[in-house]
Amino acid sequence: MATEDLERRIKICTLCRLHRSRKNAVPGDGPYKTDIMFIGEAPGFNEDTQGKPFVGAAGNTLNELMRSAGISREKVFITNIVKCRPPENRAPADDEIKACSEYLQQQISLIKPKLIVSLGRISAQGLLGKPVAMSKVHGSLLDFKLGDVRCKLFLTYHPAAALYGAETRLKLQDDFAKLKRVLKLS
Ligand code: URA
Repeated sequence: MATEDLERRIKICTLCRLHRSRKNAVPGDGPYKTDIMFIGEAPGFNEDTQGKPFVGAAGNTLNELMRSAGISREKVFITNIVKCRPPENRAPADDEIKACSEYLQQQISLIKPKLIVSLGRISAQGLLGKPVAMSKVHGSLLDFKLGDVRCKLFLTYHPAAALYGAETRLKLQDDFAKLKRVLKLS
């Protein structure tokens, strides 16, 4: 499927209840020709309003972290596990994640990234299909396979977590320093 068709389908999707409360679905942002994908949880208020991922406070933190790792935002593809905002920014429910998973799979098989950076527990669990304790797995680089795509998967905290605790901010900064070293090696 062409990228435009996929984005069009996401924008008019009614597969789960989240379509009833959204202003805009948020397919993702950035080039489909890239080696790196960033995957977050779900759009928040600002993302729902603008139809773009990570444009609010968490987006500002993500921009800073990317800059620290020498990654330019325009050169990577950024999306979420779930493409529509859950009301009151609650965590997406399992059936919402499942309904949306086909879109992420299609994005991954169109992009064929060499590296996926997973932001937060919901993203890690959605990709790995099992419960994850972020405090144990953050900073790890795994071999990942989805359909016909094999790539590396880097796990870190959600950037919003840095807004609530200095300790997690430091862990995120350490993880992005590690990510910078990983990118230099590849
Ligand atoms: N949090 C996310 O997980 N994704 C966004 O796009 C914005 C905030």
